[in-house]
Amino acid sequence: MQSRPAGERREDLVALYREASACVRCPLHEGRTNVVFGNGNADADLMFVGEAPGHHEDLQGLPFVGRAGQLLDELLGDIGLSRKDVFVANVLKCRPPGNRDPQQDEIDTCKPYLNRQIELIEPKVICTLGNFATKLLTRSARGITSVHGRPQVHELGGRAVRVYPLYHPAAALRSTGTLGQLREDFARLSALLEEPPPVPVGTVTPVAAAVASAEREASQMGLFG
Ligand code: URA
Repeated sequence: MQSRPAGERREDLVALYREASACVRCPLHEGRTNVVFGNGNADADLMFVGEAPGHHEDLQGLPFVGRAGQLLDELLGDIGLSRKDVFVANVLKCRPPGNRDPQQDEIDTCKPYLNRQIELIEPKVICTLGNFATKLLTRSARGITSVHGRPQVHELGGRAVRVYPLYHPAAALRSTGTLGQLREDFARLSALLEEPPPVPVGTVTPVAAAVASAEREASQMGLFG
């Protein structure tokens, strides 16, 4: 799909921010201080999607500003990036009470905002942080323990995007093993960003076409014993 000019996409993102700021689509609006829309570079190649705002994020209206956010900043710094280079958002834009897990109806209600953010920002790579973002954007029940550190290609926001599941920084703060794994996975991010745009899901590449043709030929030859 042809990319729209970055300025136009940014304007639409600001309009989406205004719309989300007044959102009353689910009961979470009743307990929030601020909607946490997400922030960063509106034309970023790299986007991070976390779970939901916590206490500090709700107060400031910004994503990942607590301890998990400090770790995210440090990990970005290690690969020569800062928050100004990336866009950071969450599955839910409002804080669930007491930081409980997002509920499926809340995820379903909030999902159009995230889909539209992805469509407007046009990232090359989306790092899903933890189970909720990973399961939502990979459209799979497979959890973060089995899929972290392995890029997948998915059709998101109308384009083929590389989804790179990572452990959630908050989980890494609770376990040194998880932190080590997160650092290892993060270290492969620069190379992933250098890869050419992914082939849209379902596209038949020349190699895939040749394999299919060879398989067809082999099975036809089988017909003759
Ligand atoms: N955890 C998240 O998933 N998102 C935030 O914005 C902060 C902490």
